[in-house]
Amino acid sequence: MKGRKCPVCGKEVNGRSDKRFCSDECRIFYNNSLGRTRRARNRKQLGAIRSNIMELERADAKFMLKILSWISKVFRVISSIFKFRNERE
Ligand SMILES: [Zn+2]
Repeated sequence: MKGRKCPVCGKEVNGRSDKRFCSDECRIFYNNSLGRTRRARNRKQLGAIRSNIMELERADAKFMLKILSWISKVFRVISSIFKFRNERE
């Protein structure tokens, strides 16, 4: 098959029909850069996941604070009721 071009350097590729690159250098370069972009993509995704987790943890912390403040309000009400009763007796 003629007219195949190396995706790295653009030179014509000679040899077996399933050969994609003109040389080992181009093949290795291509595979290395593929690994780099994959790693970069993984890093990006990990960063997004990490920030999602942090946001969830913040939401959890806010929720816990809400519950705690609610509990303390309830205790305040209960203790004021007891105080009121003690004062009347
Ligand atoms: Zn090449």
